[in-house]
Amino acid sequence: MLYNSTQNAKEVVSAAQAIAQGISKDGGLFVPQEFPKYDENTFKALLKTDYKGRAKKVFSDFLSDFTEEEINDCVEKAYTAQKFGGENPAPISYCNLDGTTLNILELWHGPTCAFKDMALQILPHLLTKSLKKKYDGKTAVILVATSGDTGKAALEGFKDVDHTKIVVFYPVDGVSPMQKHQMNTQEGSNVRVCAIKGNFDDAQTGVKKIFTTPSVAEKLAENNMLFSSANSINWGRLLPQIVYYISAYCDLVNDGKIELGDKINVVVPTGNFGNILASYYASLMGLPINKFICASNSNNVLTDFIKTGVYDKNRNFYTTISPSMDILVSSNLERLLYKLSGDNDEVTRGWMNALKSEGKYEVSDNVKAVINDRFYGGFCDDKNTEATIHELFEQDKYLCDTHTAVAINVYKQYVEETGDSTPSVIASTASPYKFSKAVLEAVEPNTALPETEFDMVEELHKISGVEVPAPLASLKNKVVRFSDVTEVNAMEDYVLGALGIE
Ligand SMILES: *Cc1c(COP(=O)(O)O)cnc(C)c1O
Repeated sequence: MLYNSTQNAKEVVSAAQAIAQGISKDGGLFVPQEFPKYDENTFKALLKTDYKGRAKKVFSDFLSDFTEEEINDCVEKAYTAQKFGGENPAPISYCNLDGTTLNILELWHGPTCAFKDMALQILPHLLTKSLKKKYDGKTAVILVATSGDTGKAALEGFKDVDHTKIVVFYPVDGVSPMQKHQMNTQEGSNVRVCAIKGNFDDAQTGVKKIFTTPSVAEKLAENNMLFSSANSINWGRLLPQIVYYISAYCDLVNDGKIELGDKINVVVPTGNFGNILASYYASLMGLPINKFICASNSNNVLTDFIKTGVYDKNRNFYTTISPSMDILVSSNLERLLYKLSGDNDEVTRGWMNALKSEGKYEVSDNVKAVINDRFYGGFCDDKNTEATIHELFEQDKYLCDTHTAVAINVYKQYVEETGDSTPSVIASTASPYKFSKAVLEAVEPNTALPETEFDMVEELHKISGVEVPAPLASLKNKVVRFSDVTEVNAMEDYVLGALGIE
Protein backbone atom coordinates (compact mmCIF):
# COMPACT_ATOMS: atom_id res chain seq x y z
CA MET A 1 0.00 0.00 0.00
CA LEU A 2 1.26 3.43 -0.94
CA TYR A 3 0.55 6.87 0.41
CA ASN A 4 0.43 10.27 -1.21
CA SER A 5 0.28 13.88 -0.13
CA THR A 6 -3.11 15.60 0.08
CA GLN A 7 -1.54 18.58 -1.68
CA ASN A 8 0.43 16.78 -4.35
CA ALA A 9 -0.85 13.41 -5.56
CA LYS A 10 2.46 12.84 -7.37
CA GLU A 11 4.30 12.72 -4.05
CA VAL A 12 4.00 8.97 -3.45
CA VAL A 13 5.74 7.20 -0.55
CA SER A 14 5.73 3.92 1.37
CA ALA A 15 4.19 3.60 4.84
CA ALA A 16 7.62 3.64 6.49
CA GLN A 17 8.51 6.82 4.62
CA ALA A 18 5.21 8.48 5.53
CA ILE A 19 5.71 7.66 9.21
CA ALA A 20 9.39 8.63 9.33
CA GLN A 21 8.78 11.91 7.55
CA GLY A 22 5.53 12.84 9.36
CA ILE A 23 4.44 15.48 6.88
CA SER A 24 4.97 15.85 3.14
CA LYS A 25 7.53 18.33 1.79
CA ASP A 26 4.76 20.33 0.14
CA GLY A 27 3.04 20.81 3.48
CA GLY A 28 0.32 18.27 2.69
CA LEU A 29 -0.60 15.25 4.79
CA PHE A 30 0.05 11.64 3.80
CA VAL A 31 -3.03 9.56 3.06
CA PRO A 32 -3.44 5.94 1.95
CA GLN A 33 -4.14 5.62 -1.76
CA GLU A 34 -6.80 3.01 -1.08
CA PHE A 35 -8.53 1.41 1.89
CA PRO A 36 -8.66 -2.33 2.59
CA LYS A 37 -12.22 -3.65 2.56
CA TYR A 38 -13.50 -5.78 5.44
CA ASP A 39 -16.48 -8.01 4.72
CA GLU A 40 -18.61 -10.13 7.03
CA ASN A 41 -16.02 -12.89 7.14
CA THR A 42 -13.27 -10.47 8.12
CA PHE A 43 -15.41 -9.20 10.98
CA LYS A 44 -16.29 -12.75 12.05
CA ALA A 45 -12.59 -13.48 12.38
CA LEU A 46 -12.00 -10.23 14.27
CA LEU A 47 -14.83 -11.05 16.70
CA LYS A 48 -12.90 -14.11 17.83
CA THR A 49 -9.69 -12.32 18.62
CA ASP A 50 -8.69 -9.67 21.17
CA TYR A 51 -7.55 -6.05 20.85
CA LYS A 52 -4.01 -7.02 19.92
CA GLY A 53 -5.25 -9.47 17.29
CA ARG A 54 -7.50 -6.82 15.77
CA ALA A 55 -4.64 -4.32 15.81
CA LYS A 56 -2.30 -6.74 14.05
CA LYS A 57 -4.87 -7.31 11.29
CA VAL A 58 -5.45 -3.59 10.68
CA PHE A 59 -1.74 -2.73 10.83
CA SER A 60 -0.75 -5.49 8.45
CA ASP A 61 -3.29 -4.25 5.88
CA PHE A 62 -1.93 -0.71 5.91
CA LEU A 63 1.78 -1.23 6.56
CA SER A 64 2.60 -3.43 3.60
CA ASP A 65 6.33 -2.66 3.86
CA PHE A 66 6.50 -4.02 7.43
CA THR A 67 6.97 -7.73 8.07
CA GLU A 68 4.49 -9.67 10.16
CA GLU A 69 7.17 -10.07 12.78
CA GLU A 70 7.75 -6.32 12.95
CA ILE A 71 4.05 -5.60 13.33
CA ASN A 72 3.62 -8.24 16.01
CA ASP A 73 6.57 -6.79 17.89
CA CYS A 74 5.13 -3.25 17.79
CA VAL A 75 1.66 -4.35 18.92
CA GLU A 76 2.87 -6.67 21.68
CA LYS A 77 5.14 -3.98 23.12
CA ALA A 78 2.52 -1.23 22.97
CA TYR A 79 -0.72 -2.67 24.31
CA THR A 80 0.44 -4.56 27.38
CA ALA A 81 -1.97 -5.24 30.24
CA GLN A 82 0.54 -3.56 32.50
CA LYS A 83 0.52 -0.28 30.56
CA PHE A 84 -3.22 -0.22 29.96
CA GLY A 85 -4.46 -1.65 33.25
CA GLY A 86 -6.02 -4.77 31.70
CA GLU A 87 -6.26 -7.10 28.72
CA ASN A 88 -8.58 -4.76 26.80
CA PRO A 89 -6.90 -1.35 26.47
CA ALA A 90 -10.18 0.21 25.27
CA PRO A 91 -13.12 -1.18 27.26
CA ILE A 92 -16.72 0.02 26.93
CA SER A 93 -18.76 1.19 29.94
CA TYR A 94 -22.51 0.93 29.50
CA CYS A 95 -24.23 3.86 31.20
CA ASN A 96 -27.66 5.37 31.28
CA LEU A 97 -28.64 9.02 31.05
CA ASP A 98 -32.28 10.13 30.94
CA GLY A 99 -33.27 6.68 29.68
CA THR A 100 -30.74 6.68 26.82
CA THR A 101 -27.94 4.09 26.79
CA LEU A 102 -24.47 5.53 26.52
CA ASN A 103 -21.83 3.14 25.20
CA ILE A 104 -18.78 4.90 26.57
CA LEU A 105 -15.57 3.76 24.89
CA GLU A 106 -12.90 4.46 27.51
CA LEU A 107 -9.73 5.31 25.65
CA TRP A 108 -7.79 6.62 28.63
CA HIS A 109 -6.47 3.59 30.47
CA GLY A 110 -2.91 4.12 29.19
CA PRO A 111 0.11 5.58 30.99
CA THR A 112 -0.89 9.26 30.65
CA CYS A 113 -4.65 8.82 31.13
CA ALA A 114 -5.70 10.33 27.79
CA PHE A 115 -6.72 8.67 24.53
CA LYS A 116 -3.50 9.85 22.86
CA ASP A 117 -1.78 6.87 24.51
CA MET A 118 -3.70 4.53 22.19
CA ALA A 119 -1.53 5.85 19.35
CA LEU A 120 1.52 7.20 21.11
CA GLN A 121 2.39 3.99 22.87
CA ILE A 122 2.86 2.35 19.48
CA LEU A 123 4.13 5.24 17.33
CA PRO A 124 7.71 5.13 18.71
CA HIS A 125 7.94 1.44 17.75
CA LEU A 126 6.54 2.11 14.29
CA LEU A 127 8.84 5.09 13.89
CA THR A 128 12.07 3.40 14.94
CA LYS A 129 11.34 0.54 12.54
CA SER A 130 10.51 3.05 9.77
CA LEU A 131 13.76 4.91 10.42
CA LYS A 132 15.73 1.72 10.17
CA LYS A 133 14.16 0.99 6.79
CA LYS A 134 14.57 4.46 5.34
CA TYR A 135 17.17 6.41 7.32
CA ASP A 136 19.35 3.89 9.09
CA GLY A 137 21.57 5.46 11.74
CA LYS A 138 19.84 8.83 11.80
CA THR A 139 18.23 10.41 14.84
CA ALA A 140 14.61 11.51 14.55
CA VAL A 141 13.75 14.82 16.16
CA ILE A 142 10.13 14.86 17.24
CA LEU A 143 8.60 18.32 17.52
CA VAL A 144 5.25 18.45 19.23
CA ALA A 145 2.74 21.25 19.61
CA THR A 146 0.25 20.26 22.28
CA SER A 147 -2.98 21.51 23.74
CA GLY A 148 -2.12 19.34 26.75
CA ASP A 149 -2.53 15.63 26.22
CA THR A 150 -0.44 14.93 23.13
CA GLY A 151 2.64 16.42 24.76
CA LYS A 152 2.63 14.14 27.75
CA ALA A 153 1.61 11.08 25.77
CA ALA A 154 4.40 11.70 23.24
CA LEU A 155 6.99 12.31 25.97
CA GLU A 156 6.00 9.11 27.71
CA GLY A 157 6.04 7.15 24.45
CA PHE A 158 9.41 8.46 23.26
CA LYS A 159 11.35 8.80 26.53
CA ASP A 160 14.72 7.10 26.23
CA VAL A 161 13.84 5.57 22.85
CA ASP A 162 17.13 5.15 20.93
CA HIS A 163 17.70 7.42 17.95
CA THR A 164 14.97 9.87 18.96
CA LYS A 165 14.86 13.30 20.63
CA ILE A 166 11.66 15.07 21.52
CA VAL A 167 10.81 18.73 22.09
CA VAL A 168 7.31 19.68 23.28
CA PHE A 169 5.71 23.14 23.13
CA TYR A 170 2.53 23.97 25.01
CA PRO A 171 0.52 27.22 25.37
CA VAL A 172 1.56 28.83 28.66
CA ASP A 173 -2.00 29.44 29.86
CA GLY A 174 -3.72 26.77 27.81
CA VAL A 175 -3.30 23.51 29.73
CA SER A 176 -4.67 22.21 33.02
CA PRO A 177 -2.40 22.22 36.11
CA MET A 178 -2.32 18.43 36.02
CA GLN A 179 -1.34 18.40 32.35
CA LYS A 180 1.41 20.94 33.04
CA HIS A 181 2.71 18.98 35.99
CA GLN A 182 2.66 15.78 33.95
CA MET A 183 4.86 17.38 31.29
CA ASN A 184 7.20 19.40 33.48
CA THR A 185 8.13 16.36 35.57
CA GLN A 186 8.80 14.13 32.55
CA GLU A 187 11.74 11.77 32.93
CA GLY A 188 14.07 10.67 30.16
CA SER A 189 17.41 11.84 28.77
CA ASN A 190 16.10 12.78 25.29
CA VAL A 191 13.19 15.04 26.27
CA ARG A 192 12.63 18.83 26.46
CA VAL A 193 9.48 20.74 27.39
CA CYS A 194 8.82 24.46 26.86
CA ALA A 195 5.83 26.77 27.25
CA ILE A 196 5.12 29.38 24.57
CA LYS A 197 3.53 32.78 24.98
CA GLY A 198 0.61 32.06 22.70
CA ASN A 199 -2.27 29.62 22.20
CA PHE A 200 -2.30 26.12 20.72
CA ASP A 201 -2.73 27.33 17.16
CA ASP A 202 0.37 29.52 17.59
CA ALA A 203 2.29 26.49 18.83
CA GLN A 204 1.08 24.34 15.95
CA THR A 205 1.82 27.00 13.33
CA GLY A 206 5.26 27.54 14.88
CA VAL A 207 6.09 23.84 14.74
CA LYS A 208 4.83 23.51 11.17
CA LYS A 209 7.02 26.46 10.20
CA ILE A 210 10.17 25.01 11.77
CA PHE A 211 9.42 21.76 9.98
CA THR A 212 9.28 23.40 6.59
CA THR A 213 12.19 25.84 6.96
CA PRO A 214 14.94 24.53 4.63
CA SER A 215 17.84 26.06 6.60
CA VAL A 216 16.73 24.22 9.74
CA ALA A 217 16.40 20.95 7.85
CA GLU A 218 19.93 21.43 6.50
CA LYS A 219 21.33 22.00 9.95
CA LEU A 220 19.71 18.83 11.15
CA ALA A 221 21.00 16.88 8.16
CA GLU A 222 24.58 18.08 8.88
CA ASN A 223 24.17 16.57 12.33
CA ASN A 224 22.74 13.27 11.12
CA MET A 225 19.25 14.17 12.32
CA LEU A 226 15.87 14.60 10.67
CA PHE A 227 12.49 15.90 11.76
CA SER A 228 9.54 13.70 12.38
CA SER A 229 6.19 14.35 13.95
CA ALA A 230 4.14 12.81 16.72
CA ASN A 231 1.16 15.09 16.09
CA SER A 232 -1.92 13.60 14.52
CA ILE A 233 -0.70 14.83 11.15
CA ASN A 234 1.56 11.73 11.26
CA TRP A 235 -0.03 8.69 9.65
CA GLY A 236 1.46 6.59 12.45
CA ARG A 237 -0.80 8.45 14.88
CA LEU A 238 -4.01 7.99 12.92
CA LEU A 239 -3.67 4.34 11.98
CA PRO A 240 -3.76 3.03 15.59
CA GLN A 241 -6.96 5.01 16.14
CA ILE A 242 -8.81 3.09 13.42
CA VAL A 243 -8.27 -0.05 15.47
CA TYR A 244 -10.32 0.96 18.49
CA TYR A 245 -13.43 1.75 16.48
CA ILE A 246 -13.28 -1.66 14.85
CA SER A 247 -12.53 -3.29 18.19
CA ALA A 248 -15.38 -1.44 19.94
CA TYR A 249 -17.79 -2.65 17.27
CA CYS A 250 -16.63 -6.23 17.82
CA ASP A 251 -17.04 -5.82 21.58
CA LEU A 252 -20.60 -4.51 21.12
CA VAL A 253 -21.43 -7.58 19.03
CA ASN A 254 -19.76 -9.95 21.49
CA ASP A 255 -21.56 -8.28 24.41
CA GLY A 256 -24.89 -8.83 22.66
CA LYS A 257 -25.62 -5.11 22.29
CA ILE A 258 -25.83 -5.24 18.49
CA GLU A 259 -25.83 -7.88 15.74
CA LEU A 260 -22.99 -8.15 13.26
CA GLY A 261 -23.92 -5.85 10.37
CA ASP A 262 -25.96 -3.41 12.46
CA LYS A 263 -25.14 0.24 12.07
CA ILE A 264 -23.76 2.38 14.87
CA ASN A 265 -23.16 6.09 15.33
CA VAL A 266 -19.92 7.45 16.69
CA VAL A 267 -19.73 10.51 18.91
CA VAL A 268 -16.33 12.15 19.17
CA PRO A 269 -15.17 15.14 21.22
CA THR A 270 -13.14 16.83 18.54
CA GLY A 271 -10.17 19.17 18.36
CA ASN A 272 -7.70 18.49 15.60
CA PHE A 273 -10.16 16.12 13.85
CA GLY A 274 -7.83 13.10 14.14
CA ASN A 275 -10.01 10.88 16.29
CA ILE A 276 -13.20 11.37 14.30
CA LEU A 277 -11.29 11.00 11.02
CA ALA A 278 -10.08 7.58 12.20
CA SER A 279 -13.72 6.53 12.59
CA TYR A 280 -14.43 7.80 9.08
CA TYR A 281 -11.50 5.77 7.74
CA ALA A 282 -12.86 2.71 9.59
CA SER A 283 -16.17 3.23 7.78
CA LEU A 284 -14.37 3.33 4.42
CA MET A 285 -13.04 -0.13 5.32
CA GLY A 286 -16.56 -1.42 5.89
CA LEU A 287 -17.36 -0.62 9.50
CA PRO A 288 -21.09 0.15 9.35
CA ILE A 289 -21.28 3.70 10.70
CA ASN A 290 -24.44 5.72 10.23
CA LYS A 291 -23.57 9.18 11.60
CA PHE A 292 -20.35 10.81 12.67
CA ILE A 293 -21.30 13.14 15.50
CA CYS A 294 -18.64 15.80 15.87
CA ALA A 295 -18.73 17.48 19.28
CA SER A 296 -16.99 20.80 19.96
CA ASN A 297 -16.74 23.16 22.90
CA SER A 298 -17.26 26.93 22.53
CA ASN A 299 -14.52 26.92 19.89
CA ASN A 300 -17.20 25.70 17.51
CA VAL A 301 -15.55 26.29 14.15
CA LEU A 302 -16.31 22.69 13.13
CA THR A 303 -19.98 22.91 14.14
CA ASP A 304 -20.39 25.87 11.82
CA PHE A 305 -18.40 24.18 9.09
CA ILE A 306 -20.52 21.05 9.15
CA LYS A 307 -23.69 23.16 9.00
CA THR A 308 -22.60 25.63 6.32
CA GLY A 309 -19.59 24.29 4.41
CA VAL A 310 -17.70 27.44 5.33
CA TYR A 311 -14.60 27.01 7.47
CA ASP A 312 -13.81 30.33 9.13
CA LYS A 313 -11.19 30.54 11.85
CA ASN A 314 -11.55 34.33 12.14
CA ARG A 315 -13.40 34.31 15.43
CA ASN A 316 -12.91 34.57 19.16
CA PHE A 317 -10.70 31.98 20.76
CA TYR A 318 -12.03 30.65 24.07
CA THR A 319 -10.04 29.02 26.84
CA THR A 320 -12.40 26.36 28.14
CA ILE A 321 -12.51 23.55 30.72
CA SER A 322 -11.98 21.10 27.85
CA PRO A 323 -8.59 22.54 26.78
CA SER A 324 -7.59 19.69 24.46
CA MET A 325 -10.34 20.90 22.15
CA ASP A 326 -9.44 24.59 22.25
CA ILE A 327 -8.46 24.60 18.61
CA LEU A 328 -9.48 26.74 15.65
CA VAL A 329 -7.44 25.00 12.95
CA SER A 330 -8.32 21.32 12.81
CA SER A 331 -5.45 19.94 10.76
CA ASN A 332 -6.89 16.54 9.95
CA LEU A 333 -9.96 17.99 8.29
CA GLU A 334 -7.66 18.35 5.29
CA ARG A 335 -7.58 14.55 4.96
CA LEU A 336 -11.38 14.31 4.98
CA LEU A 337 -11.70 17.06 2.39
CA TYR A 338 -9.14 15.34 0.17
CA LYS A 339 -11.21 12.16 0.27
CA LEU A 340 -14.54 13.91 -0.23
CA SER A 341 -13.23 15.93 -3.15
CA GLY A 342 -12.47 12.64 -4.93
CA ASP A 343 -8.76 12.55 -4.00
CA ASN A 344 -8.30 15.94 -5.61
CA ASP A 345 -4.96 17.41 -4.52
CA GLU A 346 -5.39 20.63 -6.44
CA VAL A 347 -8.75 21.47 -4.90
CA THR A 348 -7.51 20.53 -1.44
CA ARG A 349 -4.42 22.70 -1.86
CA GLY A 350 -6.62 25.61 -2.89
CA TRP A 351 -8.72 25.38 0.27
CA MET A 352 -5.67 25.04 2.49
CA ASN A 353 -4.00 28.02 0.84
CA ALA A 354 -7.15 30.08 1.40
CA LEU A 355 -7.11 29.01 5.04
CA LYS A 356 -3.51 30.19 5.31
CA SER A 357 -4.01 33.53 3.59
CA GLU A 358 -7.57 34.46 4.61
CA GLY A 359 -8.29 32.11 7.50
CA LYS A 360 -11.31 30.92 5.59
CA TYR A 361 -12.56 28.71 2.76
CA GLU A 362 -15.81 27.34 1.43
CA VAL A 363 -16.06 23.80 0.09
CA SER A 364 -17.94 22.79 -3.06
CA ASP A 365 -21.63 21.88 -3.05
CA ASN A 366 -20.80 18.20 -3.59
CA VAL A 367 -18.59 18.08 -0.53
CA LYS A 368 -21.17 20.02 1.48
CA ALA A 369 -23.84 17.50 0.55
CA VAL A 370 -21.80 14.51 1.72
CA ILE A 371 -20.82 16.22 4.96
CA ASN A 372 -24.42 17.13 5.60
CA ASP A 373 -25.51 13.58 5.03
CA ARG A 374 -22.90 11.76 7.12
CA PHE A 375 -21.83 14.24 9.81
CA TYR A 376 -23.64 16.02 12.59
CA GLY A 377 -21.92 18.94 14.30
CA GLY A 378 -22.84 20.33 17.69
CA PHE A 379 -21.21 22.20 20.52
CA CYS A 380 -21.51 22.68 24.24
CA ASP A 381 -20.26 25.54 26.45
CA ASP A 382 -18.58 25.16 29.85
CA LYS A 383 -21.80 25.55 31.80
CA ASN A 384 -23.52 22.73 29.96
CA THR A 385 -20.35 20.63 30.12
CA GLU A 386 -20.47 20.86 33.92
CA ALA A 387 -24.21 20.18 33.97
CA THR A 388 -23.66 17.01 31.94
CA ILE A 389 -20.93 15.74 34.29
CA HIS A 390 -23.30 16.45 37.19
CA GLU A 391 -26.30 14.67 35.66
CA LEU A 392 -24.41 11.57 34.67
CA PHE A 393 -22.90 11.28 38.12
CA GLU A 394 -26.25 11.86 39.84
CA GLN A 395 -28.09 9.37 37.67
CA ASP A 396 -25.56 6.61 37.17
CA LYS A 397 -22.61 7.34 39.50
CA TYR A 398 -20.40 7.50 36.41
CA LEU A 399 -17.65 10.10 36.49
CA CYS A 400 -16.62 11.49 33.11
CA ASP A 401 -14.06 14.13 32.19
CA THR A 402 -14.88 17.50 30.59
CA HIS A 403 -14.12 16.44 27.00
CA THR A 404 -16.25 13.32 27.25
CA ALA A 405 -19.01 15.46 28.77
CA VAL A 406 -18.99 17.71 25.70
CA ALA A 407 -19.54 14.62 23.56
CA ILE A 408 -22.35 13.32 25.75
CA ASN A 409 -24.08 16.69 25.74
CA VAL A 410 -23.90 16.97 21.95
CA TYR A 411 -25.14 13.40 21.62
CA LYS A 412 -28.15 14.34 23.75
CA GLN A 413 -28.82 17.31 21.47
CA TYR A 414 -28.55 15.02 18.46
CA VAL A 415 -31.02 12.48 19.85
CA GLU A 416 -33.48 15.22 20.80
CA GLU A 417 -33.24 16.80 17.37
CA THR A 418 -33.40 13.66 15.25
CA GLY A 419 -34.99 10.93 17.40
CA ASP A 420 -32.30 8.61 16.00
CA SER A 421 -32.02 5.55 18.24
CA THR A 422 -29.07 3.91 16.48
CA PRO A 423 -26.69 2.52 19.16
CA SER A 424 -23.90 5.03 19.54
CA VAL A 425 -20.30 4.70 20.65
CA ILE A 426 -19.13 7.73 22.58
CA ALA A 427 -15.37 8.23 22.59
CA SER A 428 -14.25 9.01 26.13
CA THR A 429 -10.92 10.72 25.75
CA ALA A 430 -9.51 11.41 29.22
CA SER A 431 -9.64 10.30 32.82
CA PRO A 432 -11.76 12.67 34.93
CA TYR A 433 -8.77 13.04 37.27
CA LYS A 434 -6.84 14.92 34.59
CA PHE A 435 -9.34 17.73 34.99
CA SER A 436 -10.13 17.39 38.66
CA LYS A 437 -10.98 21.01 39.36
CA ALA A 438 -13.66 21.31 36.70
CA VAL A 439 -15.03 17.85 37.41
CA LEU A 440 -15.15 18.49 41.15
CA GLU A 441 -16.92 21.81 40.63
CA ALA A 442 -19.41 20.06 38.38
CA VAL A 443 -20.12 17.20 40.75
CA GLU A 444 -20.30 19.31 43.92
CA PRO A 445 -21.06 22.86 42.81
CA ASN A 446 -21.49 24.20 46.33
CA THR A 447 -18.47 22.95 48.22
CA ALA A 448 -15.31 24.96 48.75
CA LEU A 449 -12.47 23.76 46.51
CA PRO A 450 -9.38 22.28 48.16
CA GLU A 451 -6.23 24.28 47.52
CA THR A 452 -3.91 22.08 45.52
CA GLU A 453 -4.52 19.96 42.46
CA PHE A 454 -3.70 16.80 44.39
CA ASP A 455 -6.10 17.68 47.20
CA MET A 456 -8.78 18.06 44.56
CA VAL A 457 -7.95 14.62 43.20
CA GLU A 458 -8.25 13.23 46.72
CA GLU A 459 -11.58 14.99 47.31
CA LEU A 460 -12.99 13.77 44.01
CA HIS A 461 -11.92 10.26 44.91
CA LYS A 462 -13.67 10.52 48.29
CA ILE A 463 -16.92 11.70 46.74
CA SER A 464 -17.00 9.32 43.79
CA GLY A 465 -15.19 6.23 45.02
CA VAL A 466 -13.64 6.03 41.52
CA GLU A 467 -10.05 4.84 41.65
CA VAL A 468 -7.31 7.40 40.90
CA PRO A 469 -5.15 6.09 38.02
CA ALA A 470 -1.70 5.13 39.32
CA PRO A 471 0.24 7.37 36.88
CA LEU A 472 -1.58 10.45 38.19
CA ALA A 473 -1.37 9.45 41.85
CA SER A 474 2.40 9.00 41.59
CA LEU A 475 2.98 12.45 40.05
CA LYS A 476 2.62 14.16 43.39
CA ASN A 477 6.14 13.30 44.46
CA LYS A 478 7.92 13.97 41.18
CA VAL A 479 10.37 16.85 40.78
CA VAL A 480 9.77 19.59 38.23
CA ARG A 481 12.51 19.37 35.57
CA PHE A 482 11.29 21.94 33.02
CA SER A 483 10.18 25.55 33.45
CA ASP A 484 11.26 27.23 30.16
CA VAL A 485 8.95 29.78 28.53
CA THR A 486 9.61 31.24 25.08
CA GLU A 487 8.14 33.73 22.60
CA VAL A 488 6.46 32.21 19.56
CA ASN A 489 9.03 33.71 17.20
CA ALA A 490 11.89 32.22 19.23
CA MET A 491 10.73 28.62 18.90
CA GLU A 492 13.22 27.80 16.16
CA ASP A 493 16.17 28.98 18.25
CA TYR A 494 14.84 27.03 21.18
CA VAL A 495 14.75 23.82 19.17
CA LEU A 496 18.27 24.28 17.82
CA GLY A 497 19.48 25.04 21.33
CA ALA A 498 17.77 21.99 22.77
CA LEU A 499 19.47 19.85 20.12
CA GLY A 500 22.82 21.50 20.78
CA ILE A 501 23.28 22.54 17.13
CA GLU A 502 22.65 26.32 17.20
C1 LIG B 1 -6.64 15.42 21.82
C2 LIG B 1 -7.89 15.33 22.59
C3 LIG B 1 -9.14 15.53 21.99
C4 LIG B 1 -9.28 15.92 20.53
O1 LIG B 1 -8.93 14.88 19.68
P1 LIG B 1 -8.61 15.19 18.13
O2 LIG B 1 -8.14 13.91 17.57
O3 LIG B 1 -7.56 16.25 18.12
O4 LIG B 1 -9.88 15.66 17.52
C5 LIG B 1 -10.27 15.37 22.76
N1 LIG B 1 -10.18 15.07 24.08
C6 LIG B 1 -9.00 14.88 24.69
C7 LIG B 1 -8.98 14.57 26.14
C8 LIG B 1 -7.82 14.99 23.98
O5 LIG B 1 -6.65 14.81 24.60
